[in-house]
Amino acid sequence: MSEDANPFESLQSQIDDAAAHLEVDDDVLERLKHPERVLETNLSVELDDGSLRRFTAFRSQFNGDRGPYKGGIRYHPNVSRDEVKALSGWMVYKCAVVDIPYGGGKGGIIIDPREYSEAELERVTRAFATELRPLIGVDRDVPAPDVNTGQREMNWIKDTYETLENTTAPGVVTGKAPDSGGSAGRVEATGRSTMLVAREAFDYLDIEMKGASVAVQGYGNAGWIAADLLEGIGATIVAVSDSSGAIYNEDGLDARSVRSFKNETGTVSGYDGAAEEFSNDDLLTLDVDLLVPAALENAIDRELAEDVDADVIVEAANGPLTPGADAVLTDRGVHVFPDILANAGGVTVSYFEWVQNRQRFYWTEERVNEELEEIIVDAFDALTDTYEEYDLESFRTAAYVVAIQRVVDAFEDAGTFP
Ligand code: GLU
Repeated sequence: MSEDANPFESLQSQIDDAAAHLEVDDDVLERLKHPERVLETNLSVELDDGSLRRFTAFRSQFNGDRGPYKGGIRYHPNVSRDEVKALSGWMVYKCAVVDIPYGGGKGGIIIDPREYSEAELERVTRAFATELRPLIGVDRDVPAPDVNTGQREMNWIKDTYETLENTTAPGVVTGKAPDSGGSAGRVEATGRSTMLVAREAFDYLDIEMKGASVAVQGYGNAGWIAADLLEGIGATIVAVSDSSGAIYNEDGLDARSVRSFKNETGTVSGYDGAAEEFSNDDLLTLDVDLLVPAALENAIDRELAEDVDADVIVEAANGPLTPGADAVLTDRGVHVFPDILANAGGVTVSYFEWVQNRQRFYWTEERVNEELEEIIVDAFDALTDTYEEYDLESFRTAAYVVAIQRVVDAFEDAGTFP
């Protein structure tokens, strides 16, 4: 990883860029750039063959000024302490930009889940949940799914916590299956916010969505739902990719049928509706109206950014642009709508799930989607108002200006203890 691509340094430079437009004391700013605490633990887990394997896991609690720490847990071989710290910080500002009452946290285990059986993954997850137990809780820290985790893992964490605490506490994690206290609409929520932000962005920039060409990098939960919903509002999905490569069809790919193909075969490559296949980097530099990076951090670096040919980028992934790429794209006049707004649907519906768990009263999917739309559209309007009022260079800086001010206000209202 090159020097400018350390995600924790990216987070800190994003905070610095925004703080330059705010009256925030340096000592308060220093607080906003570092996590409050990070758990690093080594889990010893028995594999199916009886051997013991060590897995390193982290949970970073970045900032709790606005409410319980909130954020997902990812399973990936590239998880690192700095990555988890950065992701936990992004959660703070994401929750603040959509104005939901949470701080930010994030967890991860260094593991390639494809190499383990379901029983092994259950033991790994329960071992991590046991380590997390003193740190988490409905009013303390509320994990959720992230890359390579979903309802199954959340159900295991909830069950481990409830068993050890001898209670029922469905709100200790979000993103659960509906029968375990999950919310309608949670699975689709991240991609739904990406679609809503793209729709609002096109409207704001006066670009027609009908017939707009879209490329989506990453075809997991966020990417494929965004593609499907964008297709639903008239866009043409010309290219999608996953780690196996990219598929392209100028006349449009059918988002759902690509998803069924990927479910059956494990990849998008080989899909018979594709006219061409190429690499992920080729997809990222396609001449399209809208590019949606929906995979991992640092998908676009400074060099690749010079070749990006999209008019608008809406970030479904967390941190897909390095700071170098961000600077190049801003200079080149590409409109980038940042992750902390464009994928905030996930945590927003997690918030709805938590509210429903606390009340033990469940909403319809229609209500979830309506309330989500209101929150995302209001946040979009606050962001564009700030962009204009401060005459800012990018929508990302505008999002951080809004978010940092809210966190600073909460901190200053409360004062310091002890
Ligand atoms: N992992 C998601 C994110 O990065 C969701 C977090 C949550 O629901 O707490 O926003």
